[in-house]
Amino acid sequence: MTDRVADIWGTRTPHGAGTPWPVRVDQYLAPATPEADVTWYQSACVLCSNGCGMDVGVRDGRIVGVRGRAADRVNRGRLGPKGLFGWQANHAGNRLTEPLIRHDGQLRPGTWDAAMDLIVERSRQVLNEQGPLGMGFYTSGQLFLEDYYTIALVVRGGIGTPHLDGNTRLCTATSDFALKETFGSDGAPGSMADFDVCDTIFAVGHNIAETHTVLWMRILDRLRGPDRPRLVVVDPRRTKVAAEADVHLPIRSGTNMALLNGIQHELIHNGWIDRGFVEAHTIGFGKLEQTTAAYPPERVAEICGVPADDVRAAARIIGAGQRVVSTCLQGVYQSHQATAAACQINNITLLRGMIGRPGCTVFQMNGQPTAQNTRETGANGDLVGMRNWQNPGHVADLARIWNLDPLQIPSWAPPTHVMQIFRYAEQGSVRFLWITATNPAVSLPELHRIRSILRQDRLFVVVTDAFLTETAQLADVVLPAAIWAEKTGTFTNHDRTVHLSEKAVEPPGQARTDMDIFIDYASRLGLTDRDGAPLVKWRMPEECFEAFRQVTDGRPCDYSGLSITSSGEAVGSSGRAPNRTHRALSGCTATIASTPRPASAKTTATIC
Ligand code: SF4
Repeated sequence: MTDRVADIWGTRTPHGAGTPWPVRVDQYLAPATPEADVTWYQSACVLCSNGCGMDVGVRDGRIVGVRGRAADRVNRGRLGPKGLFGWQANHAGNRLTEPLIRHDGQLRPGTWDAAMDLIVERSRQVLNEQGPLGMGFYTSGQLFLEDYYTIALVVRGGIGTPHLDGNTRLCTATSDFALKETFGSDGAPGSMADFDVCDTIFAVGHNIAETHTVLWMRILDRLRGPDRPRLVVVDPRRTKVAAEADVHLPIRSGTNMALLNGIQHELIHNGWIDRGFVEAHTIGFGKLEQTTAAYPPERVAEICGVPADDVRAAARIIGAGQRVVSTCLQGVYQSHQATAAACQINNITLLRGMIGRPGCTVFQMNGQPTAQNTRETGANGDLVGMRNWQNPGHVADLARIWNLDPLQIPSWAPPTHVMQIFRYAEQGSVRFLWITATNPAVSLPELHRIRSILRQDRLFVVVTDAFLTETAQLADVVLPAAIWAEKTGTFTNHDRTVHLSEKAVEPPGQARTDMDIFIDYASRLGLTDRDGAPLVKWRMPEECFEAFRQVTDGRPCDYSGLSITSSGEAVGSSGRAPNRTHRALSGCTATIASTPRPASAKTTATIC
């Protein structure tokens, strides 16, 4: 095997528009591993939002390598360096293996019973003294759907606090809100297969070659193919993506809006828009035309620091494309006027009517293939199934499914964002904070302030993690978590492909899954539905997935068509039979909604 750290994208397999992306299976096994001894378990990579399908190789109860899944629609067998080698972190010597409880200022090993009893005791105390608003929960973009949904049910339905957020709020939240702003709902409209048939790619602030290496392989194979798509790249740096571009616009940082206004000015001024589509499926065009009229190429050149003719050339390519895919990531999300700029990329898509047909879409990319599930399960800014907390009908519907009084589900205010949760902790109204699989002592703004909040004596901090992070070191109780390949579950990538990830190995020591931990917490706390039955009705991930299918039935993120059967098996070359858990979920790679959702006659997109 070639050095895939040096040769990131591997060998090219060029192909033309409309022909299948050729299979290329990448595999890495630890040195001196006899392949015949390896048992393979189905999974997918969790290290970027592409979510490439892979099998996990196990020998003697340890992960020994991975291989890409040839049949997977996302990667057709390919893996990037992170996918090929990231599994080695599972074996890190500093994994947490037992609960830790703070005594006399020091974290010391304790039993699960002692740790959970203490957590429940402090929860009861805060609930009795301050009610649900004394409780805060900060979760992650790195868990599985089943973990998130259990947390969302326990926190929103059981505890009844709006103080639940995920770290996705600070990463790719713009994706969520730009999709809502334009299309009325979260959820990507596109398919990865659109890259296989498009004739134009417009990449804004998205270094695909480094952030989504397998997607870049897919694009490179088109760029080297017989009918190369044209490529327009917006990035202040000359990245590998920029080096391949027909037009590269190295704009000044923070000037996305002016450039995108300028491109729309050119599209409108030159008549390169689909007026029929705009009139039939959008609102707000007049205002957009008025706004962008103030951004001719010369003005854009002045603001953005790129030649006016390059702005014209970029607009000409986008305007001439018959199948245009647009994409953006942190160069938009973490820059000036992030959501507005992301919406302008949506607007370019709408002006050209480039949606709802093969090769035509916009991707507001995510960070991980598990991040979409934070949003869909209601573990950050929405209620589960993309239900709107401001819609009494949505709240009542959720209460019916959860068998709760609607008043139990907090809907009097928006789900609290994480910086506000920390503010409440700083002020003393939040006195219990449970942080799962994220490290705010390193990742939040104003670190000195965040760390001082976490150090407060009056704040009881629980951290669930695989490692003793900087945040865990400040906690009162630390719970060891099982991670990818150590639990069964599902997750949803940036084109809504849902992957099953099977438990391939046991977690280290006493580590448990986040789903198990929150079921245990709900049980010890005595959380029930309105009939006195346990609030959480599932024990196995398969049961949780089934519940999620039901709660999303008819919603924009509708999982109800995804099957659960007992026919799927992890087939190992050793012929060893997998255990029951491994067999329980199959039908394992599916896309929610079988076609891209167009701005159809029933859907009006908002140009803003
Ligand atoms: S492209 Fe992303 S999902 Fe695929 S192997 Fe690389 S890191 Fe993993």
